[in-house]
Amino acid sequence: MSDDMDLDCSAVLADVWLILDGECDQATRDRLQHHMDHCSPCIEQYGLEEKLKSLLNRKCGGDKAPDTLRQRLTMEIRTTYTQVETRRVESGE
Ligand SMILES: [Zn+2]
Repeated sequence: MSDDMDLDCSAVLADVWLILDGECDQATRDRLQHHMDHCSPCIEQYGLEEKLKSLLNRKCGGDKAPDTLRQRLTMEIRTTYTQVETRRVESGE
């Protein structure tokens, strides 16, 4: 654990949902980037970094994310988010 991990991974994934829904502001973008800079599980387990980079560049650059990318990310995030929530329930939090 590190003081830099001021967000947990499920909060980050919730932010990813916002971006998929079309909300993209600098604060959200910075928050995601900062978390991924310091959270190896997000990168290694979820493989989010490369996908998020391209997504952020597209959405924040004013382009619409392709439907195929959106669908793929939506499915992956839904699966991951469910896993995170399930682990929390199992650990009694
Ligand atoms: Zn994380």
